[in-house]
Amino acid sequence: PSPSAPVSAERLAALQAAERERFLAEHPRSRVLAERSAAHYLFGVPLHWMRDWPNPVTLFVRSAHGAELTCADGHGYADFCLGDTGAMFGHSPAPVARAIAEQAAHGLTCMLPTEAAAGVGERLAQCFGLPFWQLALSASDANRFVLRWARAVTGRPQLLVFDGCYHGAVDDTLVDRDPATGSTVRRPSVLGAVHDHPDFTRVIPFNDLTALERALADGQVAALLAEPALTNFGLVPPEPGFWPAAQALCRRYGTLLVLDETHTLSSGVGGHARAHGLAPDVWVAGKAVAGGVPCALYGVTADLAARMQAVKQAAPEGHSGIGTTLTANALAMAALDAALQHLHTPASYAAMNRVADALEAGLTERLRARALPWTVTRLGARLELQFMPETPRNADDVRRHAQPALEASLHLFLLNRGVLLTPFHGMMLCSPATSPAHVDRLLNAFDDWLAALGL
Ligand code: PMP
Repeated sequence: PSPSAPVSAERLAALQAAERERFLAEHPRSRVLAERSAAHYLFGVPLHWMRDWPNPVTLFVRSAHGAELTCADGHGYADFCLGDTGAMFGHSPAPVARAIAEQAAHGLTCMLPTEAAAGVGERLAQCFGLPFWQLALSASDANRFVLRWARAVTGRPQLLVFDGCYHGAVDDTLVDRDPATGSTVRRPSVLGAVHDHPDFTRVIPFNDLTALERALADGQVAALLAEPALTNFGLVPPEPGFWPAAQALCRRYGTLLVLDETHTLSSGVGGHARAHGLAPDVWVAGKAVAGGVPCALYGVTADLAARMQAVKQAAPEGHSGIGTTLTANALAMAALDAALQHLHTPASYAAMNRVADALEAGLTERLRARALPWTVTRLGARLELQFMPETPRNADDVRRHAQPALEASLHLFLLNRGVLLTPFHGMMLCSPATSPAHVDRLLNAFDDWLAALGL
């Protein structure tokens, strides 16, 4: 055992084997469904990601309400994964469920804006602070479209991202930084890539202003696409002063600052940028923005909007490469309207932060009591248990402390005790429907896990 992995590999493996047996014994119905699904779905699931969980067979869901999920075998779970943020405001929030049920009887998709669109536009400007908007179906789509606009408007070829970034299924961003040379390399896991994205994407460490200025200095970078805090490679918050300085550098070198707040929407009403006084040129969100109904959006400043309109007008008629047929469909617009009115509110965030406070305090106290060299990192209603002595500054810090076996053990142990965590790292998200009882269930299960590991 090392200081930050104070458990032997043998002990972990034995516990994991026992937990796998327990899962199989307690989920006969999920096992049957997995067997039937294997006959007609590649990998046994409608999307192969659905096997990226530590349980030995897929967990099939019967229903989900608020912060709870019930599986096909009737077991209840306190859900801290929340559809990995899509259900951040709780599963089936009542105002959204009502709005889509009503809309469902009046058309689902028309390739025309519904009457609600005008009001939604006003509410978007009010909630997120940017004057002009476009919609998309997923955050991946929104980011792809924003990159097209950024390159079209600036006439610059390069994109800049942070090492460890994730912005969806966007080829340009599926790159890594070679730690030896600092150059960009294709992410080795990406399938079927033929274009040389590393030629057009620069990657720098997060929280590094020197590297940022160096990357921007030749005036070739159209946009810096970034999450305000890395949330997809372990939770890596910005250091104090980083963003105001980074924003100033982008302005100085004529690079558009695109903040992807798909996850950091959990930081406060209107997202992290708004809560921290940042002024991006483009602001992107998806997932939870319409309460979990597929919908994404990007807002732009008035200045950028004028430049976008000018390049569109100057382009020949035909396909722009931006947009999809079902974008801003009637159902999504109804959901977005309800979400803007009833979910993106100070009351939602107060409730989310209250339970996140309790969870943070409970976890921190347990680490301290056992003198464990681990950290709880917090960002609004999102927090993460990290198996390292302090909050990471960048992706390399996270890589250095990666402990996949310990993570998988925590996930499966908690799952077997009715607590669902995001299957990637130790991320926990609190919704307005998450209660102190849900937090207690997680903390009790965490106590039992530590005891099972002899910690
Ligand atoms: N941006 C960020 C910051 C994300 O975390 C994700 C998904 N994890 C995406 C974009 C892509 O979202 P989607 O898969 O819904 O397209």
